[in-house]
Amino acid sequence: MQRLRGQAMNGRNRIPLDLSNTPELRDLTRKISLFALTEVKKQITLAKKEESEGIIRAWLQNCQCHAARRYGFPCYHVVPTNGDTIPLNSIAPFWRLDN
Ligand SMILES: [Zn+2]
Repeated sequence: MQRLRGQAMNGRNRIPLDLSNTPELRDLTRKISLFALTEVKKQITLAKKEESEGIIRAWLQNCQCHAARRYGFPCYHVVPTNGDTIPLNSIAPFWRLDN
């Protein structure tokens, strides 16, 4: 786990373009690990895909689905897709780089 965190730290300066180009993530880049960032990005992509297919999402405030429970960050049921930023406090402290 220590090694994992070390890798996360090393990832600080190498934010992939598709992550830095996602407005929803702008408050999170360089504040949470690259793994968490990538996973949250996947949730946003899923959410946008469902929206584009006309699926109305539930907008559960405290969703307890698998993704939310397992990782401790917002799942595709709750992530914004309109460019609103995801607040840092919605990410489990475990993933933050500053603790
Ligand atoms: Zn969910």
